[in-house]
Amino acid sequence: MRALQLPAWHSDAVVVDLPIPTAGPGQVVIKIAGAGACHSDLHLMHMMSDGMFPWGPPFTLGHENSGWVHEIGAGVEGLSIGEAVAVHGPWGCGACPQCILGMDPYCSNQAAAAGDGAFGGGLGLDGGMAEYMLVHNARHLVKIPGNLDPIAAAPLTDAGLTPYHAVKMSLPKMIPGGKVLVLGVGGLGHMGVQFIEALSGADIIAVDTKQEALDLAVACGAEYTVNSGDADAAAQIKEITKGRGCDVVLDFVGVDATIALGIASSRIQGDMTIVGAAGGTYAYGLYTAPYELNLRSTYWGSRSELAEVLALAERGDITVTYTKYGIDEGLQVYKDLEAGKLKGRAVICP
Ligand SMILES: [Zn+2]
Ligand SMILES: [Zn+2]
Repeated sequence: MRALQLPAWHSDAVVVDLPIPTAGPGQVVIKIAGAGACHSDLHLMHMMSDGMFPWGPPFTLGHENSGWVHEIGAGVEGLSIGEAVAVHGPWGCGACPQCILGMDPYCSNQAAAAGDGAFGGGLGLDGGMAEYMLVHNARHLVKIPGNLDPIAAAPLTDAGLTPYHAVKMSLPKMIPGGKVLVLGVGGLGHMGVQFIEALSGADIIAVDTKQEALDLAVACGAEYTVNSGDADAAAQIKEITKGRGCDVVLDFVGVDATIALGIASSRIQGDMTIVGAAGGTYAYGLYTAPYELNLRSTYWGSRSELAEVLALAERGDITVTYTKYGIDEGLQVYKDLEAGKLKGRAVICP
């Protein structure tokens, strides 16, 4: 079978020929429907080096995966051949307190997980940018409900699940008439707007530098937009909240400037979550943020939340915009992703 692999750190992806994997005990091989191309794959290609992780290349890219059950290993129950499934991307040990809650991204015993500490398929182990993929434990699979398009399910496993987890943590504060600030309306941010709209009665204030992104936010349900290029962006946000500040802030960018804007726009006892992986920082202290502001970061989401995201998509309450590409187009997809030329998620469909 053909696969799009990362051959080494600091290199582009290459198309290679690999044998079709076989399922050992407890494992499942899926025939891939789609594998989403994620910004973090660009980090793997350009920013990582030996020693940063306990794992490294070569491995097949693709950590947002969906497909159909192709082969079922000994001891696996409850799945049938041909059934449509989405892959919960982070693969933890299955036994630590976080994994028991389905929150594998925060596994505290990654060394005991599949692949000597690899984070999952496409993150140290072979991922879904191939015709077939080995899922190292059947518990990482979530059934795709009803008539949901299996290809659309692929980006939902990360670009959908990550903002959903962030929104859900702050749901009690997203009260009708309340204000939720969404910083950055890209691949994750536009999904975040849809989750807030689908799950709460709060008003959404969307912030971005690009008018196109702000238009997308409105189409997804945002009530207000602010261009963060405006010198008085912070004042505009305060004005919308009548001086009180936002109940919840979700920062899908995560640079110094967006974190500072988010904190300046928060209310006392509000929530602010940094979702974007840009690595910005802020000097948090008694005199630099509203009292009792809950400031946190987040990474991915739980297995049960993935089932909830798929259910919302199947109901039509959220939609993910995507374009299909072949494996041979993979290299170009990442170049376009890096250049910011893609609209919606690019999904590799072998
Ligand atoms: Zn990702
Ligand atoms: Zn664990």
